Amino acid sequence: MASITVRNLRKEYDQGTVVAVEGLDLNIEDGEFVTVVGPSGCGKTTTLRMLAGLEPATEGTIHIGDKDVTDLHAKNRDVAMVFQNYALYPHKTVFENMEFGLRMSTDLSPEERRDRVREAAEMMGIEELLGDKPDQLSGGQKQRVALGRCIVREPGVFLFDEPLSNLDAKLRTTMRTEIQRLQEELGVTSIYVTHDQEEAMTMGDRIVILNDGQLQQVGRPKDVYENP
Ligand code: ADP
Ligand code: ADP
Repeated sequence: MASITVRNLRKEYDQGTVVAVEGLDLNIEDGEFVTVVGPSGCGKTTTLRMLAGLEPATEGTIHIGDKDVTDLHAKNRDVAMVFQNYALYPHKTVFENMEFGLRMSTDLSPEERRDRVREAAEMMGIEELLGDKPDQLSGGQKQRVALGRCIVREPGVFLFDEPLSNLDAKLRTTMRTEIQRLQEELGVTSIYVTHDQEEAMTMGDRIVILNDGQLQQVGRPKDVYENP
């Protein structure tokens, strides 16, 4: 089970001269798909990085399920993140990219890791690419690998940081559908950051609107749309 509870989350940079996130409270239910939208610099990426354990919070707490993960390293949290620039290791093959996180965060045997990678590759339709290096892949293929790398870890939570913004419009539509399919098949809890309001509206069960580091509004797309 992977509900997410955020209490009074705050992030300061540069000795407090920059307040990136302030007084943030969120309750996200198990299996929910929540989109986070707002202007550039409003704190979307910082929030996601704190949830992922890539950035320490200045104040506040984060629970995933019943577990207080506020001080836990990324690899000890039940989360996997998809980055805008894919963040694949250029010198590793697709297989190695997908397997690497499993080596770091689990004690699975090599055979178990291989089976998991194959299963995830099948799910993303990238079995043929397992021996390739990232620079041999198209943008869409890289994003599939990035998604596959998250799936192998079988996390309770997916975190997406503008995963489609480097793709052309047609591919964006395809990948949106893919992400929604994964969401249904895996039943994970997802937080999806985007600056694209339409994407936020169509993909989210609920939308979180951030402004200047603070929660401005949270609700179902219809309610947010009718009461802006
Ligand atoms: P968004 O993802 O909504 O564009 P960010 O979370 O990237 O917003 O940034 C929020 C604010 O924090 C911005 O003012 C940004 O300049 C600042 N910021 C983000 N990361 C850092 C950092 N590592 N050092 C200093 N300031 C940062
Ligand atoms: P996004 O809009 O997706 O947050 P950015 O290009 O703003 O992307 O930020 C990319 C990276 O740079 C992030 O890891 C963020 O933490 C960092 N960053 C953003 N603003 C600053 C800043 N003012 N000083 C240092 N690092 C920053």
